[in-house]
Amino acid sequence: MIEGIKEKNSYFVRTGNPFVDGGIYAIEAFYEKDFFSLTPTKLETEIDGLIDLYLTDGWRKNMYSIFTGNSKYLNPSIKDKKVNSSKYLKALLNDFSMLGTSGTCIACGRRDALPIRKRDEIPLTGSGKLVNYFAGASGGERYCAVCTFAVQFLPLLLYSVGGRFLLLHSVSDKIMKYWAKKGINNIQEQIASNNYTGCIQDGYKNGENALFHIVEEIIRDQKDVFPEENPSITAYIFSNYGQNPPPMQIIHLPNSVFRFLVYIQRVNSSAWAKIVRKGFNILKKEDDYKWRNNTVYKNLLSGKSIIGYFIEKNRSIIGNWEVFSYYLKEVKEMDEKRIDALKKVGDKIANYIEQTDNTKRLFALETAKSYERLRNVLLKITKDTIANEMGAPLFTTDEFLNDLFPEGALTWKETRDILLFRIYEKLSGYLQEKKEIVEEIRKNEEV
Ligand SMILES: [Zn+2]
Repeated sequence: MIEGIKEKNSYFVRTGNPFVDGGIYAIEAFYEKDFFSLTPTKLETEIDGLIDLYLTDGWRKNMYSIFTGNSKYLNPSIKDKKVNSSKYLKALLNDFSMLGTSGTCIACGRRDALPIRKRDEIPLTGSGKLVNYFAGASGGERYCAVCTFAVQFLPLLLYSVGGRFLLLHSVSDKIMKYWAKKGINNIQEQIASNNYTGCIQDGYKNGENALFHIVEEIIRDQKDVFPEENPSITAYIFSNYGQNPPPMQIIHLPNSVFRFLVYIQRVNSSAWAKIVRKGFNILKKEDDYKWRNNTVYKNLLSGKSIIGYFIEKNRSIIGNWEVFSYYLKEVKEMDEKRIDALKKVGDKIANYIEQTDNTKRLFALETAKSYERLRNVLLKITKDTIANEMGAPLFTTDEFLNDLFPEGALTWKETRDILLFRIYEKLSGYLQEKKEIVEEIRKNEEV
């Protein structure tokens, strides 16, 4: 509603196009003014400052991969690049018009676009063999003057990832504003130290790791970012360099994973650090984590399970049931009835092991190699508990069919690992106390 009123007198509007939206938020942070309120007269005042920055050595290096060597900022045939770039941006400002109701611009769709723009003005809108993000582009693409102008500010919030650039896009205004501010801080630090190093960078070379690093930093720094934000974050990692730029990598962070990250970072960040560490497998050097693949990140991005990462080889766990069950509910989308049933069964098995000292059953559970074996172990424990008059059976038929194995043999491993997590949690003192005896029995079992 408020946006509707603001839009009436505005040049800029969020478009859903990551390049234009990124540029608009960069402009907002650069001018320190709500983008809805910015006019061409105001915009003109800071143009020279922007160009001065782009013409420093550090930024020039980046510009080749953002706007190509043919751009106004770099083209070797242009003698005075400062004057020329300034003319270019001012010409765009001259062509500014208020938002209409329709138009041919493929970003805003609210103004007409002429002439078409090539990749030296808008990244990846090239021709021929070049990889295009926008389907159907041939010689160039239709961007209006306002959207084209916005994209000229994009470098301010790009994040350098080993020769490519990560463009962060989110539907959350809060997150885009935060990120743009980060870009401006980067520039202010460079001005203060008189050391111009270009786009934001932390030395990351792996796009997925960089995205998690960025999102985790936002969560840590921004206490008003909530799990319910549903920011729909996407990282577009691209290079517009030379004749054959690499294909763009698009990484979408599911909202469910975002919710989990906010939750675990706030309630148990050390547990999360341990889990992430396991995802790297081996880290030889101090900053290996900036380029090595991480299976925890990969699994979260591709919808695969990270249940196994919560469990340690020495029968201990990372985190606690609260954190673990949050993951099961939010990311694995398990229903609460199933989660509660698994917890209850885990508790009963733990209780049984402690009371009978029958650790053989625990090994059998840990080493079950099939659905049938696992079912067998559970039935044996059930029989034992009945024989020992240890109260109600492990589970009802309904729980067995619907909560323990809702998909039959398909997800038996998942069920086993969830039970083991709970058993290890409940028995942590017991297993510690009986460590040597348990080891002894395990060795005998193996023989
Ligand atoms: Zn437009």
